[in-house]
Amino acid sequence: MELWYTENHSKDVQFSMKVDRQLYSGKSHFQRIDVLETPEFGRVLTLDGFIMVTEKDEFIYHDMIVHVPMAVNPDIRRVLLIGAGDGGAVRELVRYPGIEQIDMVEIDQMVVDVCKSYLPKVASGFGDPRLHLHFEDGLRYVRFQENRYDLIIVDSTDPFGPGEGLFTKEFYGNCYKALTEKGILVNQHESPFYAQDAQAMQRAHSRIRAFFPVSRVYQAHIPTYPSGHWLFGFASKGLDPVKDLQAQRWNSLGLYTRYYNTELHQGAFALPTYVKELLEQVQREG
Ligand code: SAM
Repeated sequence: MELWYTENHSKDVQFSMKVDRQLYSGKSHFQRIDVLETPEFGRVLTLDGFIMVTEKDEFIYHDMIVHVPMAVNPDIRRVLLIGAGDGGAVRELVRYPGIEQIDMVEIDQMVVDVCKSYLPKVASGFGDPRLHLHFEDGLRYVRFQENRYDLIIVDSTDPFGPGEGLFTKEFYGNCYKALTEKGILVNQHESPFYAQDAQAMQRAHSRIRAFFPVSRVYQAHIPTYPSGHWLFGFASKGLDPVKDLQAQRWNSLGLYTRYYNTELHQGAFALPTYVKELLEQVQREG
């Protein structure tokens, strides 16, 4: 008998992958956690029945959420990482010798423990001495931070369940306050393609714009996320993600990245017309 994993990508669309075996299934205080072994995507982590990472395509997401801001300001020293329990963003951040401190605020310790056991290639950065793990709600944590971080990365679940608070006005306002003068906020920004995701993306953009003078959106192709077309938000107090790109300095670091490069960086901010229209609609209304 064949085993298949199926996820709803919209009310009328499903995405399926063949499964060799289920490696882990458990329930934390916050969510259901599963790890599957699949022939095409390797090991796959799902939370509440939604794919978070797969061994095959996680490099795309983690390259884009970490290296884009780091190439705009290679002098980033203090980083706040919210969510990110699989460890992929940490793995990329600890490659920068200039980073002095990473505070990671993950609501669910069980996600970190499961990923350390079942996704060791993704979770390989957790032993770095610059990393400080805080197991609490990111929404609450940022309330008490001021002028402290050069970079905040919001690597969260979708805007429902425990991740809901990380898409609110209160959260974005507190992120602004927590950032230094050259601070950058990057977040996973949902997909523009299916109606429900597009609405979540527009809502997030509208709320971020209300606080940050620079608020841009960039894209990547992530095969296992709904529609495969995924967006990230780049917001800052002044730095422009394209004009201020430090391509030469970033390239001189000699970091090998399988997806990210500095030409792609510039292209990622060139959006399809329908996505520009969705964002312009928010800008007109806001
Ligand atoms: N790459 C993934 C994606 O977009 O599908 C996200 C990966 S990561 C596993 C998301 C993490 O955010 C989860 O481990 C979850 O526990 C955490 N999370 C959700 N809500 C949170 C909150 N309010 N504060 C801190 N972490 C939160």
